[in-house]
Amino acid sequence: MRQSELFTKTTKEISKDETSFNARTLIRGGFIDKVAAGIYTFLPLGHRVHEKIKNIIREEMNAIGGQEILMPALIPKELLEATNRWENFDVLFKLSGADKKEYALGATHEEIITPLLKKHIFSYKDLPKFVYQIQTKFRNELRAKAGLLRGREFSMKDLYSFHTSEEDLGEYYKLAQKAYFKIFERCGLLDLTYLTFASGGTFSKYSHEFQALSENGEDLIHICDNCNIAVNKEIIEEQKVCPSCGNKKLREEKAIEVGNIFKLSNRFSKDFGFQYTDENGGKKDVIMGCYGMGPSRIMGTIVEAHNDDRGIVWPEEIAPFVASLLKIKNQKSKIKNIDEICDKIYNDLQSKGIEVLYDDRDVGAGEKFADADLIGCPIRIVVSEKTLNKNSVEVKRRDSEEAKLVGVSEVVNKISNFQ
Ligand code: ATP
Ligand code: MG
Repeated sequence: MRQSELFTKTTKEISKDETSFNARTLIRGGFIDKVAAGIYTFLPLGHRVHEKIKNIIREEMNAIGGQEILMPALIPKELLEATNRWENFDVLFKLSGADKKEYALGATHEEIITPLLKKHIFSYKDLPKFVYQIQTKFRNELRAKAGLLRGREFSMKDLYSFHTSEEDLGEYYKLAQKAYFKIFERCGLLDLTYLTFASGGTFSKYSHEFQALSENGEDLIHICDNCNIAVNKEIIEEQKVCPSCGNKKLREEKAIEVGNIFKLSNRFSKDFGFQYTDENGGKKDVIMGCYGMGPSRIMGTIVEAHNDDRGIVWPEEIAPFVASLLKIKNQKSKIKNIDEICDKIYNDLQSKGIEVLYDDRDVGAGEKFADADLIGCPIRIVVSEKTLNKNSVEVKRRDSEEAKLVGVSEVVNKISNFQ
């Protein structure tokens, strides 16, 4: 994309009421725009990143048998009354329709998916099944001061699994944990993310959270360095040792909950009378699990984790573009065909399928360098009179200080192999 055509600009003017690091940085870079506390627009650069995260999640959910659907955001009151959550889910946004009926904006979707699957699943032969969506969720969060980490409107991937038995759920639960770590690896969060034991509610001893270490995290976790797992502070009172090895020397850290998986057992199938016929003709409750993950929160977490004093350092797979191409043109330049050379590199990279942000703007070199660092694409290519005098361009990784000269005719191949 040509930066001259991008309708957004980087900015230094950020309102003082935005205090979170991830949101301030993303607003500066022109990735998001703040509408109100916990409510943001995703701008072209931010939308690209957000979509890439969602696509990684989608691929890994499909790889463990997930079937994608899209459920409505409006949930009729009766469904939430059936599970006793209309009154008890404290963050629900409630509204009334022209039909005088009441609705909640979807904060989670067990009340839609359970009756849905009930229409299609009858026998043990129909199970197990795994169904998910990636959708906007609404929660009337009390504090929405952490930028993308805690939105009142935010994106969530929610997968629900349906089984004949707790054992079968247990197997899938383990598979889902592995898939989650693949996602965190692809998002550049693997080294920071701990499988964390959290309180399980009524149906299992523990649920599991995926907590990414971060100074600005809202959660406190206790890490066991022997097992590389953690326990959430909220349960630490009764669980002062590592649940896996019994280690008592746990290390306390701040972290962000980037995902959460739960064994629901028959919590929701019971309320909706969702049963299947077993091999002997008997009726049994369908056993369920749910698996949440927040793409927008992950985007904020990546910014919190991967940055320096100049801006964001995006991990390769989720960067808005793989490369920034900077045309540094000096009015007095003796090299007259710099535009043609840059345009050719841009077109050749694009035709190789390499996503490039081409800074062809009519602004000073300082501004181009500063913006490229702030926006944070993994590779920077600079074309200037200085480099062209050596018939070269300069190539530098965002996460390294070392710049290399690469011949003009070689740059496209070099960048293809860089990835
Ligand atoms: P938290 O404890 O942080 O309030 P939660 O336990 O209520 O979150 P779930 O209901 O399990 O979260 O939601 C699944 C995932 O959705 C979370 O792990 C997180 O990644 C994301 N998520 C939840 N609430 C928000 C929010 N307000 N803003 C952005 N992402 C969120
Ligand atoms: Mg939680």
